[in-house]
Amino acid sequence: MRAIEFHGDERLELVERPDPAPAAGQLLIAPSAVGICGTDVEIFEGSLAYFRMGIAEYPIVPGHEWTGVVVDVGEGVTGFTPGDRVVGEVAIGCGVCVRCRAGRSHLCARRTETGIVHMDGAMASRMVFPAAYAHVVPFSARQAALVEPTSVALHGVTRGRVAGQHVVVIGSGPIGLLVAQIARAHGAASVTVSDTREDRMTLAASLGFTPFEGRAAEWDDPVATVAGATSDGPDVALLCAGGPGAIAAAFAAVRPGGTVVALGLSGQPELPFDWDGLVVRDIDLIGVLGSVGYWQGAIDLIASGAVKTEPLVTRAFALEDTRDALERLIDPGSLKVLIEP
Ligand SMILES: [Zn+2]
Ligand SMILES: [Zn+2]
Repeated sequence: MRAIEFHGDERLELVERPDPAPAAGQLLIAPSAVGICGTDVEIFEGSLAYFRMGIAEYPIVPGHEWTGVVVDVGEGVTGFTPGDRVVGEVAIGCGVCVRCRAGRSHLCARRTETGIVHMDGAMASRMVFPAAYAHVVPFSARQAALVEPTSVALHGVTRGRVAGQHVVVIGSGPIGLLVAQIARAHGAASVTVSDTREDRMTLAASLGFTPFEGRAAEWDDPVATVAGATSDGPDVALLCAGGPGAIAAAFAAVRPGGTVVALGLSGQPELPFDWDGLVVRDIDLIGVLGSVGYWQGAIDLIASGAVKTEPLVTRAFALEDTRDALERLIDPGSLKVLIEP
């Protein structure tokens, strides 16, 4: 089998490895489509917070947003047969600790994370994966490759309790556009989006979302103070971009007493933050990690057509062109880029 290994500092290798065999409880999978996201870029560069925290280490076979076809099943596996199209979860818990038993394996201290922490991902021609964390999907590979980010988006929107609320989505990249669609499906009173990139606003408009007319100009000012803003804005800001400007914009946008839901890491060791503004304006701040418990809901949203994923896929590359794919992520018009191993 072939696999992409990341070694840090933008070093990447295409390596040959022996074909794996599925152990008891595992599936042998041929990955067919793997999305690249900001986390992969941070792993490629070495800026991911997990390295600073000592949670992750190199080398890593990346690929946590994936779909593939079952090739073989290990002993004791039920519910899967060769030929099934599957997706797989990211956080794989130890299964026995107090958090795992509470269904919160993404907070397990001994967890692995597919393609991120002590577990190979899907940028490879073969992978083994625990059947207990896999789901069969009833749609195409290009739709299935976006189940993971849709699950993350569903987690964030659910935590934001958006039904009947006015919502602004800050950052209309792939996660932002999934979040906006799910907020609409969850009955938000209105959903507006904000992004500094014209091409992304155009795509947002094509999905029926109007631009947020607020204090978006403060995007450019990383230390924009929010304490002085008192006029009512949206009830909930769903923050789907990580830079200091986007974070400041989310806090500036919501009304006093509103909620900011943070769906992504900042990619920075430290950030300026208006702590007093958070307190004085009585803001609820919610951090959202991963997607545990939201996979079937995400699959249902895509299957029903409530969430459209195909418009978000702008390009696909072969496994050997992974470096090219990473470098082309920032191209104008680029949104979700896939590797097809
Ligand atoms: Zn991702
Ligand atoms: Zn555990």
